[in-house]
Amino acid sequence: MTESHHDTAALQAAHLPDRLREIRAAIAAETILSARAADAVTLVAVSKTRPREDVETALAAGQRVFGENRVQEAAAKFAGLHDAHPDLELHLIGPLQTNKVRDAVALFDVIETLDRPKLAEALAVALKAPGVRTRRVLVEINTGEEPQKAGILPAEADAFIADCITRLGLPVVGVMGIPPVDDEPSLHFALLREIAKRHRLPWVSMGMSSDFTLAIQQGATHVRIGTALFGIRQ
Ligand SMILES: *Cc1c(COP(=O)(O)O)cnc(C)c1O
Repeated sequence: MTESHHDTAALQAAHLPDRLREIRAAIAAETILSARAADAVTLVAVSKTRPREDVETALAAGQRVFGENRVQEAAAKFAGLHDAHPDLELHLIGPLQTNKVRDAVALFDVIETLDRPKLAEALAVALKAPGVRTRRVLVEINTGEEPQKAGILPAEADAFIADCITRLGLPVVGVMGIPPVDDEPSLHFALLREIAKRHRLPWVSMGMSSDFTLAIQQGATHVRIGTALFGIRQ
């Protein structure tokens, strides 16, 4: 059996509201099992690589929080959508180059990937400009201390977070992280939760398609889900 590319896309879009419902139900069930408040966990729908139509389908189904990992891709895909949906909340979840900071703070409500001192300095300047949309920032922690991965090392996290808040005045409200692929994620999730707790930060962004239930058990307030919602990325 063969299907045209267009038909496949249409089929996936048709199933998206169902998947959204299922994932919301799974999040709600795990939240209750973990004895946490019913609204404790927010679904960040990771729409990277997906077309704008998928975002519109998800919006029509009531989804309002989205994650994208590239500034330019998100700018094109979400053009006009904040005007149409004032409660839309767009998160940057990918690495941010300092030369894209001005574009990023004009577009994203939340920047989850503050991962180095130079970016903190650039954000502090950019957030003072007029027309800025970014209201919240998360510090990305490299819990697995992986050399190829972005993020602040756990040993440096406390000093970095304190410096961002007290000296630079950045609106840091939490931490985010991605556990190493072949490690048991729970310890990494617990470490993220503990760092947030030490600084009384309310947001902990952790857990993806494969491990979001574990993340909720460990205190995630935001789970970032792409594949389980939109299907396998090309
Ligand atoms: C792509 C991505 C996700 C979503 O991953 P899935 O496994 O598709 O759910 C979450 N967080 C970050 C930082 C990502 O880059």
